[in-house]
Amino acid sequence: MKLVKYKVVTGKIKLLTGLHIGGSSDIIEIGGMDNPVIKHPVTNEPYIPGSSLKGKIRSLIELAYGKVNSNGEVHKCLDVNCPVCRVFGSSPDNEASALKRGPTRVIFRDVFIDEGYKKEMERKGLTVYDIIEEKAENVLNRITAEAKPRRLERVIPGVEFRFELVYRVFDTGDGGQKDEELFEKVIRKGLKLLELDCLGGYGSRGSGKIKFEGVEIKDYAPENLKIEVEES
Ligand SMILES: [Zn+2]
Repeated sequence: MKLVKYKVVTGKIKLLTGLHIGGSSDIIEIGGMDNPVIKHPVTNEPYIPGSSLKGKIRSLIELAYGKVNSNGEVHKCLDVNCPVCRVFGSSPDNEASALKRGPTRVIFRDVFIDEGYKKEMERKGLTVYDIIEEKAENVLNRITAEAKPRRLERVIPGVEFRFELVYRVFDTGDGGQKDEELFEKVIRKGLKLLELDCLGGYGSRGSGKIKFEGVEIKDYAPENLKIEVEES
């Protein structure tokens, strides 16, 4: 097995509706938010963990290829050519199968607010607090008909994030053809499915509609990488 190339996919994720990816509400303040969005511990900016993006796209691809387990668990199998396990990885009991399949093909980076969007925020005098909204939802008790308000944080529509994912093409005796094929059938299809579906929580109630913009795909073959050595 030989690494043929890295395919690096970059672009913007633009929020078309509010986004809720749950954070920690471990620190309970009086009157505090019971359902906050995840924020970077240092900058306090909302972000999209790579694991959230990967998990969502994986589940959409599992649905698209009929690979959803009836017990609701994440699909895993021993098929060397399984598009889901080959691209997203799995922890099968059979190590030989995993070895034949090779390493997980895709790497999702954490997704942060786009630098251009941040400059625009600065120009308008906006801080991170201005791009997070509080949405009140009524949770109805079906038996007592008592409505209990719940507050939910969302990143507001219009906010732009910058994403990067890396896809590794391996030669498994076919010059990398199978992995190139799966890049189209799993990664590009997965991104399209995500636009049709939703990211994060409360999607069935309107949250998490996103759009990919300015997507670029660049190939990096190891033999073409130039290593510049700085003269001291
Ligand atoms: Zn599988």
